[in-house]
Amino acid sequence: MAAKIYYDNDADLSLLKNKTIAILGYGSQGHAQAQNLRDSGCKVIIGQRPGGPNYDLAVKHGFQPMSLEDATRQADIVNILLPDEVQGDLYRNHIRANLQPGNVLMESHGFNFHFGQVEPPPGVDTMLVAPKGPGHLVRSEFEKGGGVPCLIALGPGASEETRKLGLAYAKGIGGTRAGVIETTIAEETETDLFGEQVVLCGGVSELVKAAFETLVEAGYQPEMAYFECLHELKLIVDLFYQGGLNYMRYSVSNTAEYGDYTRGPRIVTDQTRAEMKKILKEIQSGQFAREWILENRAGAPAFKAIRRRERSLQIEEVGRRLRKLMSWVNAKEV
Ligand code: NDP
Ligand code: MG
Repeated sequence: MAAKIYYDNDADLSLLKNKTIAILGYGSQGHAQAQNLRDSGCKVIIGQRPGGPNYDLAVKHGFQPMSLEDATRQADIVNILLPDEVQGDLYRNHIRANLQPGNVLMESHGFNFHFGQVEPPPGVDTMLVAPKGPGHLVRSEFEKGGGVPCLIALGPGASEETRKLGLAYAKGIGGTRAGVIETTIAEETETDLFGEQVVLCGGVSELVKAAFETLVEAGYQPEMAYFECLHELKLIVDLFYQGGLNYMRYSVSNTAEYGDYTRGPRIVTDQTRAEMKKILKEIQSGQFAREWILENRAGAPAFKAIRRRERSLQIEEVGRRLRKLMSWVNAKEV
């Protein structure tokens, strides 16, 4: 079944006119959503801790950032745009007690709602309005008169009024200019985690590493392996992005297309598909969420160790050297 999509005409910005919206966190999403809403005529206040560049940025943009407590207390609509892994503690210690019945609590990603880290007090509806793009794009598309598509999802028991408020919010950040798709918090959370684990981050990184190491172990030069297995991925992904699998296959050589059809299924095998199903089960059961929440509570020791090891891989060292040869790449080293 095709998803329901809402546009500008389905949303009424005037529903936000007498509401104060607190944006908690002035990071990637916070800075974009706050400014777009203000430009749409909404009353926006910012909860942002002092002492860092994001605080200064909020001031530079003409806001007077305050504590999470004060912003929550003064607002009718509270949107938590803090990093997912710290939201649970920040919510319990600084936000929850300052919510009042009738407030609406929002997120841009369902993780903390879905896995019970952000649970609203009685009388507070929850809702997700999630832009399908990074904050800088949410801002720059809005400034050009456009918008980034958004997802909307209502929390358990949320009223029809809250849905209308959500669509108004999505309009305020420019989302209805592009289209707003209705989903559920479970679907948004589970598909997001699955996509990043299996394809976008986990799957692709491991595929690239394995292919690079196969060539290098077979005696090929690491520079050649880097170009073939990592660098050129961008050309392929850009073709996917513009026209799906078919446009990629139309654009590459017939030799490449034949290799794709006949060799690809030997890389992603029945065993790979079975593992995908297992990973999805771990997401659905909350096993992954529990692991990640406990990992953070322990100070993220395993996460930091793996991160260190991954940074010292040969493919990373070769890449740092080769990217210096290509000014147009706009190389980023962190
Ligand atoms: P960022 O990391 O860009 O910003 C986080 C903000 O929270 C910063 O202002 C930061 O302030 C503040 N913050 C961080 N740690 C603390 C702390 N311990 N106490 C108080 N404030 C803190 O987050 P994002 O905008 O990327 O993510 C926000 C939400 O949006 C998440 O739920 C995410 O899943 C969702 N989202 C993000 C997208 C993206 O592309 N980035 C896309 C769609 C959804 P300081 O500068 O002082 O550290
Ligand atoms: Mg995602």
